[in-house]
Amino acid sequence: MIKKKSNSVSLWLFESLLGYGEIKHFISSRTGGSSCRPWDSLNLSFNTLDDAKAVLDNRQHLSEALQIPLTSITTAKQVHGRHVRILSRSLKGRGACDYHSAINSTDALVTDVPGICPTVLLADCVPILMYDPSKRVVGVVHAGWKGTLGTISQKTVEIFRKDFGSMPEEIIACIGPSIGPCCFQVGHEVITQIENAFGTKEGYITKESQNGGYFNLWKANQEQLIRAGLRERNIESARICTAHNTDQFFSHRGEKGKTGRFAAGILIC
Ligand SMILES: [Zn+2]
Repeated sequence: MIKKKSNSVSLWLFESLLGYGEIKHFISSRTGGSSCRPWDSLNLSFNTLDDAKAVLDNRQHLSEALQIPLTSITTAKQVHGRHVRILSRSLKGRGACDYHSAINSTDALVTDVPGICPTVLLADCVPILMYDPSKRVVGVVHAGWKGTLGTISQKTVEIFRKDFGSMPEEIIACIGPSIGPCCFQVGHEVITQIENAFGTKEGYITKESQNGGYFNLWKANQEQLIRAGLRERNIESARICTAHNTDQFFSHRGEKGKTGRFAAGILIC
């Protein structure tokens, strides 16, 4: 990934997507915003105890940095589920300026409508951006451990294929900053679910002990994308741990639950 500063806001960008002039994408960092501690400072979520005015201000900063209207940003009420929603023109701007208008119970958003920016909010969960340059379809996924075990990445590729006629081997996917295998400790009941989902825990769980082990969400999502038909060379993984980089990103575990949310989004211009 590369880091680019635009006004006061720093955005992280994936090399694999930069060559496509017809799209914009971003992972926001936490700096350059208006929110006070513990949401300092570019908290982009209205679903926190942060001052809504500060969040709106922060979203305005983001839209200016991206040079897109604030109402392009379209968000969902994320529930760690496996539901994927296709964004039609009428859903543009849902959740852009408040929480209550965000799309209900959804963790992945897909669209082929130019000017709609499907966006997810994060503090440790895995953001996955997807683009099919041939059919011009974009998508974004929010995958924590529950969504990952619910195979939400794989389900999103299915939507690209079934609803938009995408060929999985043409889709580019980018796995963004999120809690790494260095920090994401899980208990035995999760390890059992991982074994059931992937047929093995080898490579997915490290440093196993009496207390559990460390789950590699990056590998789990990459594996699902490959199972869904993506080419390994079309998957870029940031391999940046949010809990290790709380100066750049919000981390739920790294900050014991008291923190803001950064965002990931992608749109066709
Ligand atoms: Zn870490």
